[in-house]
Order: sequence, then C-alpha cells, then structure tokens
Amino acid sequence: MASKVRLYVDHALGQGQSVPLSREQAHYLFGVMRLAEGAVLSLINGRDGAWDADVVKAGKKGGILECSAQTGPLQMPPDVWLLFAPIRKERTAFIVEKAVEMGVSRVCPVQTDFTQSANRVRQDKLQTHAIEAAEQCGGTFVPPVDDLAKLDRLLAAWPEDRQLMFCDEVLIGDRVGLPLVEGPWAILIGPEGGFSPAERDRLRGLPFAHPVSLGPRILRADTAAVAALTVWQQALGDWT
Ligand code: SAM
Repeated sequence: MASKVRLYVDHALGQGQSVPLSREQAHYLFGVMRLAEGAVLSLINGRDGAWDADVVKAGKKGGILECSAQTGPLQMPPDVWLLFAPIRKERTAFIVEKAVEMGVSRVCPVQTDFTQSANRVRQDKLQTHAIEAAEQCGGTFVPPVDDLAKLDRLLAAWPEDRQLMFCDEVLIGDRVGLPLVEGPWAILIGPEGGFSPAERDRLRGLPFAHPVSLGPRILRADTAAVAALTVWQQALGDWT
C-alpha cells in the first residue's frame, strides 16, 4: 500500500476538527497528488502530533479535511540548536532540510566575519524548507528558523546552561571530541572561509564553547553540519 500523503497545516488538529485548505494546498493535494473526496491523508501542525484526516470537500481553489484519529503524539527532538553561516542558496536549503531530518529544536542562521551570503537569506523560504522536510521525514515537530543574526550578538546573550559544540577547522587531524555534558546544546558551523582569528579567540574564551574536530579532512560547510549533527545525536541525542 502506498504511504499516506503528509501535509503540514497551520491549524489546530483534534478529533472531528475541520481543516480548511488554501488554494496552494488544494492544488497540491488534488492537482499534484490526485487525492479525491474520501481519501485519507496525514496532517501535522508542529504542535498536536500526527492525525489522519479525510478529504471531505475537494475543489480547485480550496477544500475541507476532517481529522479522524490521532496516529502519533508530538515528538520533540532533543534540545539542540544548529547555528550555521549561510552559504549558497541551495546549499543553505540543504543544511536546513538535513537539520530537520536529523533532529534539531531550532535553526539559527548566523552572520560571521567571513559570511558571504548574508544578503540572500530569506527566513520565510528557509522555514518552508523546514516544513517540507518535516512532512517528508514523518516528523511531528517543525523547528523554528530564525532570521539571520550576528554571531557576536548571539554569543553576548547566550544562555549560560547551553553548551556549544564549536566545530573548528583548525583542529583538523586532532582528536578533539565532544564532551559528554548533558543538557541543552547548540552546534556551530562556520562559512566556506572558516572562522576569523578574532572569532576563534572569542569562542575559545567562552566557558560554554567546546572546540571539536570533525576528523582529518576539511569538510564543506554543508557536509560539516550533517557530520556534526551525526556526532552529537549519537553521543548525546535521541539516536541511542
Ligand atoms: N576555509 C576553511 C579552511 O580552509 O580551513 C574551511 C572552512 S569549512 C569549509 C566550513 C566549516 O565547516 C568550518 O568553519 C567548520 O565549522 C566546519 N568544518 C569543516 N571541516 C571541519 C573539521 N575537520 N573539523 C571541524 N570543523 C570542520
């Protein structure tokens, strides 16, 4: 049996809840996915878990769904943020998509000294990528994607109890791993040009920042984001 179509809606979900569809959602469900009245699909809204819903009304410009049964609870990822310096558009989209699949609680694009692509960051587009990734991977939570923020401002207001996995390319080849400290975390990935000496000095002086090596080769920023999330999830996250 083909797997059910999954759709994110910005609407409350609950037993018997009626969910109106926008024109775009109707086009996707009835035009692209060819669903008809009576079909069953799976809904998420990032808050109420996963719900089966029946197509009650299917039109070109809209439609109505009705929730029939909850199929899964809201499953929160571990409390880990991904901070990364935006790179080229499609690679930035890749990082957001992979972060959602791997499991993060927040996505924070940061402007570092050597960030090249700051002007091209569109928060709304990145949030849409996060929603699509959650739909695709069966997630019930959609991490918020922040507006671009300057790294030094974020660090100035950093919550004291949150550890920071500082992926530092100068440690290439060294065996500097992740300290196994429980609690909230964040992961920091630099841009193509890496971190500036001033940023590195600052980060190395922060008690919550832990410089970590991702092996003996220089990884591209998008690869580094996936590798760092893998290391973190395996050691401290919800993979074990
Ligand atoms: N331009 C830098 C250089 O040549 O040394 C490389 C920057 S790398 C493309 C982008 C980011 O990925 C780095 O700032 C770092 O956060 C992360 N990264 C890549 N490889 C890494 C490694 N082996 N260890 C730790 N971090 C790494």
